[in-house]
Amino acid sequence: MEYDCGFNTKMLHGKAAHRYGQGEILPPVSQVTAFSYDSMEELEKVFSHKAMGYAYTRIGNPTLSAFEQKINELEGGIGAVSCSSGMSAISCALLALCESGDEIIAGKGLYGGTIDLFHDLEKLGIHTHFAEVLNKETIESLVNEKTRAIFGEVISNPSLNVLDIREASEAAHKAGVPLLVDSTTATPYLVKPLSLGADIVIHSTSKYINGGGNSIGGIIVSGGSFSWDFEKFTALSEFKKYGKMAFLLRLRSDIWENIGGCMAPMNAFLSFIGSDTLGLRMERICENADALAHALDGEEDIEVNYLTLSSHPYHEYVEKQLKGFGGGILTFRAGSKERAFKIIDNLKFALIASNIGDLRTLVIHPASTLYIHSGSKETEAAGVFDDTVRVSVGIEDKEDLVADFLNAVRESR
Ligand code: PLP
Repeated sequence: MEYDCGFNTKMLHGKAAHRYGQGEILPPVSQVTAFSYDSMEELEKVFSHKAMGYAYTRIGNPTLSAFEQKINELEGGIGAVSCSSGMSAISCALLALCESGDEIIAGKGLYGGTIDLFHDLEKLGIHTHFAEVLNKETIESLVNEKTRAIFGEVISNPSLNVLDIREASEAAHKAGVPLLVDSTTATPYLVKPLSLGADIVIHSTSKYINGGGNSIGGIIVSGGSFSWDFEKFTALSEFKKYGKMAFLLRLRSDIWENIGGCMAPMNAFLSFIGSDTLGLRMERICENADALAHALDGEEDIEVNYLTLSSHPYHEYVEKQLKGFGGGILTFRAGSKERAFKIIDNLKFALIASNIGDLRTLVIHPASTLYIHSGSKETEAAGVFDDTVRVSVGIEDKEDLVADFLNAVRESR
């Protein structure tokens, strides 16, 4: 079969979507801790990588492999590792590359949990430089001989800054450093970061990839084109003989395995079947978000932040990098915290919940929840103010969403 086909076709009929052991059209859920063999010799071969096979789910599991193959194929990588959460994926990817004394460059305005992780890494001797905006100039000015990773979000949550992947990867590569991107909010439907020069793509699959709001998970996809300098990337030196695969092997057989970062088999299955409809959902979600943003933008006392609005500073990236879509998140400022709460409480068709990427529209007041423990500078860098409401737009009927939000806004006056 020829696999050069459209996104939805590939989702359903790509290499990863083969028939399984008994002809199952979906990967069976291998909900086991361990795998048994007829002889000790066979198990020894599996452990010593002389034979293919599974031994223990923390080290590998067929349901996880099926999910990894599917997302790897979508992103165009050389291999993927699924993780227990998006944060586990970000942590494992960075720990596979960085040692004490090494440095990272990241943009401000990232997801709050990632910023918290960078603070935790400081205590392990890994320092992060935060650039106001991650671009060629800031990378060139912050990079030095200790830099081991440049990290950005393709569409930052919730500030909605867009990373110019091509520009950032060129600057990173010039300095001999890989570009790692968190593409959770963009999804493989809107952009394929590896094709634009990124080296490692990370997703919190808890969001759009799963889509149903039923399981936490994460995934790391390696692009395989970065040439590792093993004198510099000493964390990978044991894996030198694997060349471009060195990062993936260091990740899988050291950090991920030893930290115990594996995804639960049931979550891999739920994320696998959820991802089947990613393309359809993203089209509908983006169409709804665009309609809602434009409708709210017509209200004079509401300040809307959404990528397809011509006033948005990253508007040009909608066409340039995001296939004409603006993504599923929008934020708006209501004028005061009290009014933001009132609007949220007035909504009929949105759940008040701290997640994004669900089929259902979700709303939250980020300052009093997600950023409650962050400093005011970090909070504002994330585009979060006391009157900000974040909306993760779902697949409801557009007319219902627009009417519900306009009604909630007008009733709050
Ligand atoms: N990256 C982004 C952009 C996120 O929005 C989140 C969670 O909201 C994460 C990473 C962390 O994902 P998880 O909650 O699956 O650990």
